[in-house]
Amino acid sequence: MTFESLGLHASVTKALTEAGYTKPTAVQEQAVPAAIEGRDLLVSSQTGSGKTAAFMLPALHKFASEQPAAVPAGKTPNQEMQASRSRGERPRFKPAQPKMLVLTPTRELALQVTTATDKYGSHMKRIKAISILGGMPYPKQMQLLAKNPEILVATPGRLIDHMESGKIDFSQLQILVLDEADRMLDMGFIDDIEKIVDATPETRQTMLFSATLDGVVGNMAKRITKNPLIIQI
Ligand code: AMP
Repeated sequence: MTFESLGLHASVTKALTEAGYTKPTAVQEQAVPAAIEGRDLLVSSQTGSGKTAAFMLPALHKFASEQPAAVPAGKTPNQEMQASRSRGERPRFKPAQPKMLVLTPTRELALQVTTATDKYGSHMKRIKAISILGGMPYPKQMQLLAKNPEILVATPGRLIDHMESGKIDFSQLQILVLDEADRMLDMGFIDDIEKIVDATPETRQTMLFSATLDGVVGNMAKRITKNPLIIQI
């Protein structure tokens, strides 16, 4: 089995070759083709199984395959902001409109996912991933959000703060990933997760990764996924 045979876009497979990956891991073999088809996934797999690439590769494939959006007529956002300033108006912050959101239980995991995304997406133009983490200074996060990144990797609590202050608009969200969902629930993030999920479009693709898929995780998975493919490694 090769990455090409999983159907991934050439810009993604090129980055994988450079990263020294020769073949997909077991979870990637099952998850990638189904995710490319647009299916929701419930995956039980451990850290070290290659789960980050299992959700990030199909997402990058999708974004690489999308037609570039037509440039709208009129002013660019920067020109608009300058024009508004010269009219003496207070600059307004335009909310970020990410296409993908990855929720993780910890800052460390969020940073690992962001680093892996930069590596897998190194041959893609226009794809930017940022981390929104508890403990990071707000001005820095505002700067990152102002770049309107396609991919947001976040811990739930801090993300809620930004959502509630209107800094993030999920109306364009296509893919939602819950990484280490069991740990997020153990840490008491259930209400935050539900609030975040409720703010995303019904049409999204949802992928949930967890060590276990029963109990509370299973109940949440039922509520937030549609006809998911269940993968147990
Ligand atoms: P993860 O389970 O996502 O934390 O990945 C564990 C480690 O395996 C990371 O260091 C990845 O860079 C690496 N990895 C993921 N997929 C592959 C692959 N197909 N071939 C070689 N290494 C991989």
